[in-house]
Amino acid sequence: MSDVWEGMGAPECLEEECGVFGVFAPGEDVARMTCFGLQALQHRGQESAGIAVGDGETVVVAKDLGLVTQVFDEAALAALPGEVAVGHVRYSTSGGSASWEAAQPHISAIDDVLIALAHNGTLVNTNAIRAQLVGEGVPFRSATDSEVAAKAIGYATRQTHHLREGIRYAMETLEGAYAMVLASPDSLYAFRDPHGIRPLCLGELPDGRGWVVSSETCGLDIVGARYARDVAPGEVVRINADGITSEQAVPAREPAACIFEYVYFARPDSIIDGQSVYQARRSMGRILAREAPVEADLVLGVPDSGVPAALGYATESGIAFTDGIVKNRYVGRTFIQPTQEMRQLGIRLKLNPLPEVIAGRRLVVIDDSIVRGNTSRKLVSMLRDAGAAEVHLRIVSPEVTWPCFYGIDTDTRDQLIAANMTLDEMNAWIGSDSLAFISLEGLREAVADVRHPGFCEACFTGDYPVAIPAAVAKRSFLTRREQEAGAAEARRG
Ligand code: SF4
Repeated sequence: MSDVWEGMGAPECLEEECGVFGVFAPGEDVARMTCFGLQALQHRGQESAGIAVGDGETVVVAKDLGLVTQVFDEAALAALPGEVAVGHVRYSTSGGSASWEAAQPHISAIDDVLIALAHNGTLVNTNAIRAQLVGEGVPFRSATDSEVAAKAIGYATRQTHHLREGIRYAMETLEGAYAMVLASPDSLYAFRDPHGIRPLCLGELPDGRGWVVSSETCGLDIVGARYARDVAPGEVVRINADGITSEQAVPAREPAACIFEYVYFARPDSIIDGQSVYQARRSMGRILAREAPVEADLVLGVPDSGVPAALGYATESGIAFTDGIVKNRYVGRTFIQPTQEMRQLGIRLKLNPLPEVIAGRRLVVIDDSIVRGNTSRKLVSMLRDAGAAEVHLRIVSPEVTWPCFYGIDTDTRDQLIAANMTLDEMNAWIGSDSLAFISLEGLREAVADVRHPGFCEACFTGDYPVAIPAAVAKRSFLTRREQEAGAAEARRG
């Protein structure tokens, strides 16, 4: 069945989404703080980076393609003085591939006042809103959902003369996942969709120097801010010279925080909704060891997210943990793409095994997820080439059988291996000696300490907290077998 999977467009693995950061701190170098915050969030997006700064009079934005350190140097930061800033790192999940126009923050004009918006997540209903705004003469520079949000807020603010009303209008109108930060010339706003799908937390700088918002707490840590709380679903937080205010702009709906943040997206040193990501990953490994035990000599984790889970699996199973795979941390999605020849080296660009550790040994290999399966297949082959006697794959997420429409790039069902093969077929195709996934109940148990009372689990269950438009569902929800059956039916008919 291998041909089925070669050369298709879906990502090899789950791609990160975006990261947002904001700071209100008069008298501080807010652009530099935002630059540091974005570096802490760089794992969430490597295609572009941007910072917008409000100086009390106006808002200025600087953004470009590349990593944070490629986009911002001393001169660029020195040109961004102000008291409030928002920043963004992007991986393109909506609006096509990387382009300057799609980079964020997006600027929107309210008469002669500018605002800048940075968005993590994906909106599912922007086509009609965009068409309406275009009809009203609102100009667009990109095809992104995030620019629609920025322009919708600007448009509604012009009508109502109140930025908070503009934000409320957007929150009432836009559907999907959003954690947003917005800078006006003198204020910072942070708001989150009514399900709280994507994370957003609030922190306070020492000595009353100001406030920080970030996709993850690792963004607070890097600027010395103390974690205060998470922004609540449907809440708008405003911070300016008058202090910090909170408003429930739209009613919270059934909680649906993305459970994959704990599995893969978030940094292990982050705390989301009260739960340590590192501890959650250790628990996933422990639970998986109970659910899917195997006779083996060594446990190893696929760096980075598989390593804490491998430690948990080793602790629970009593099998020794080892570092058997080394990661090259400096290969990423940058301007410099590997050549086709280099790409054929496959995952060796990123991962390299240690033959002296694994040769002749029976391995339990812990990974976070399987999307198309190609990476797992190459990994198993690479470990066998390095002399592994057996390779038993253990995955700390359940089978990904449905695409994500809330900020993760998993495309359509026909490209997800677990939606198209049985467990035995997957094991045979990947080439592992055995393959097992954690159960959904097991994953829930691993994040059980979390304060958030409900999760989005749609990529495992197809139960989407925000309805997916029928046209998108029609295109995205068919497995390969269902597509082939439909085509055969059409030929017969
Ligand atoms: S579908 Fe999956 S990846 Fe997407 S938000 Fe829901 S849990 Fe997260």
